[in-house]
Amino acid sequence: MTGNEVLIKTPEEAIETIKSNMPTSGYQMLRESLDMAITALEEIPQYWAIGTVEECREAAENQIPKTPDYEGDGYADGHMVYDTWICPNCGEYYEVDHDDYRYCPNCGQALDHVI
Ligand SMILES: [Zn+2]
Repeated sequence: MTGNEVLIKTPEEAIETIKSNMPTSGYQMLRESLDMAITALEEIPQYWAIGTVEECREAAENQIPKTPDYEGDGYADGHMVYDTWICPNCGEYYEVDHDDYRYCPNCGQALDHVI
C-alpha cells in the first residue's frame, strides 16, 4: 500500500468503517458526531442522484416553454415563409413542419411553437 492510496471509495464503506470503529462507551460527543456523519453519508447518494443545485435549477428552467426564433427564406404571396426554427436555449437549427418537437432533442428545452 502506498501512502496516497484511498481505501474508502464509497459512502457505504465509510459507514461500515465508522460503525466498526465506533467507541462503545465514553466519548459521547465523538459518538454523537459519528452518528450524525453516518446519517449524512446515508443521504449522500440521493443528492448525487439528484445532481448539483446548479443542475437542478437548469433542469427546472428548461421545463418552462420558450418560443423558438424563426427564420424565413423569402416571401410567397406577400407573406414571409418561415422554414427554420432555432432553439432559444442552445441555438440548434430545425426545419419547420419536419422537426415538430415539444422539447429540443439537443438540450431538452421545452418549446412553445407559435407557427
Ligand atoms: Zn436546444
